[in-house]
Amino acid sequence: MVEKIKEISKLLSIAIGKSNKFWFEHILPSKMSLTYFEQADSLLDDAIKVYPDNAHFYRMKSQLKSYTMDYAESISLLETAIKLDNKQKDKDFLVELMQHKDVKKPIQKISTGTKKVKERELPYFKYHPDPIETGAFESDQTVECDCCGKETPIYYTGPFFSVEDIEALCPWCISSGKAAKKFKGDFQDYSSIEGIAVTPGDADTINYTKEAIEELTERTPGYRGWQQEHWLGHCNDLCAFVGYVGWQEIEDKLHQFADLEGDCNNLHMKIEDLPKYLRNNGSCQGYLFQCLHCKKYRLYFDFD
Ligand SMILES: [Zn+2]
Ligand SMILES: [Zn+2]
Repeated sequence: MVEKIKEISKLLSIAIGKSNKFWFEHILPSKMSLTYFEQADSLLDDAIKVYPDNAHFYRMKSQLKSYTMDYAESISLLETAIKLDNKQKDKDFLVELMQHKDVKKPIQKISTGTKKVKERELPYFKYHPDPIETGAFESDQTVECDCCGKETPIYYTGPFFSVEDIEALCPWCISSGKAAKKFKGDFQDYSSIEGIAVTPGDADTINYTKEAIEELTERTPGYRGWQQEHWLGHCNDLCAFVGYVGWQEIEDKLHQFADLEGDCNNLHMKIEDLPKYLRNNGSCQGYLFQCLHCKKYRLYFDFD
């Protein structure tokens, strides 16, 4: 049994080391660490079956679940450990854990297993060039497209503003404009495009062409924000959505931004505070855009 404990704690510490997060930081562990967490989790299940009266394994599983943000499960596991082996340390820890009881686990935004799908020929979306990488298109199952009624292994369930209740659309119905037309819907809210004058005489108006606006709102898959999704522009055109980012994902690209300080100021954050707050899958989520003309980056972010 001691061997089993050693084996699992080794795996668990690898997972934690790769998780890129602190204990109780309200972000999901990194994608890379997930397989280690899963492996440790299944070893713990086996161990609990063999040693159902041993507090060690419940304690470890509780720790694991606190890292993966499954707080309710983590609490009940630790309660079991306390019942079996009344330790003050566990009790103290339970008090801390209870403070996180109501924290919701965020949805993993970046899809996995994308390689296989990439071989299929997808339409090209100028303003969202890699929708598989960003997770706008999912490929975990085959679903029926609400627009053409055909089965599709790649589908979109992101923002689509329409009075009809649309569950899934295929990439082809998006790119042809068929879905937008059929359901009188938009993939991007017009008034949430940067520089679209909400009030006449807005100084920041950008002169997009009508074609550009239509391409974005009617024929481009959107992205999912915590709040209303804003789409940025640059060089009198709309930018391409590159993906979801935290500080980690942009810190080596700072010199390639058009005006990162300006982007921060627009959102009332000091640029010095970005490293502290901006986290992929975190409460302050970044959205990276790239200008199609000067190729410079722009940043948008919002809060949960
Ligand atoms: Zn379709
Ligand atoms: Zn530009």
